[in-house]
Amino acid sequence: MKKSQFVIIGLGRFGSSLAKELVELGYEVLGVDKDEEAVQDLSQVLTHAVVAEATDEDVLRSIGVRNFDCGVVAIGDDIQASILTTILLKDLGVKKVVAKAMTELHGRVLEKIGVDRVVYPERDMGIRVAHQLVSPNLLDYIELSKDYTIAELTVPKCLNGKSLQELNPRGRFGCSIVAINKPQGVIIAPVATEVLAEKDVMVIIGTNEGIEQFEDTII
Ligand code: ADP
Repeated sequence: MKKSQFVIIGLGRFGSSLAKELVELGYEVLGVDKDEEAVQDLSQVLTHAVVAEATDEDVLRSIGVRNFDCGVVAIGDDIQASILTTILLKDLGVKKVVAKAMTELHGRVLEKIGVDRVVYPERDMGIRVAHQLVSPNLLDYIELSKDYTIAELTVPKCLNGKSLQELNPRGRFGCSIVAINKPQGVIIAPVATEVLAEKDVMVIIGTNEGIEQFEDTII
């Protein structure tokens, strides 16, 4: 199967780190920025990098953006440029357009003009870091809905040698441990007799409240 190709417009902090990571993951990436220095910095790393004004339709057409499977508009500060570029990418037929928003209002405008996904890197990272600061064992989490979360937690010393049966997260907090990552490998759907060791990583699913209570008891 052909691998997706990405065009990243705006090679600031977010755009450049996204572009570099996609290249690391083995994808073809065209980076576009109106600033020559930003393009120069990445010209050796990305598949292609061009200096171009992204709000100019003819320019976008000439660099062939419509041939890309996914376009990311990573322009933040200049909201007008972000919106114009997003509309142009959609009109030129880029299949999937993702855009970065600086504020809720900016995000709402992007949604109204038909962007496929809006990302709020600063806001989301702030929220993520806040959660990690108040829960030292929390490595990562995904909000499944308003009420339910999957969290990845490091097993603290106090749970070393405890089986899932003894810990009883389902009975005590209504949470299920769905996987344990041990140095020997990942155990999916662990049985009740499975024993935790300090520094294992457990993946737990439950209500936000249940997971919070669980975290509080294991700090
Ligand atoms: P970050 O916070 O991720 O660094 P910025 O908004 O500061 O994001 O950077 C966005 C990048 O987008 C800058 O490198 C800037 O030169 C580029 N950029 C802004 N407007 C345009 C435009 N109209 N065409 C092409 N590149 C642009």
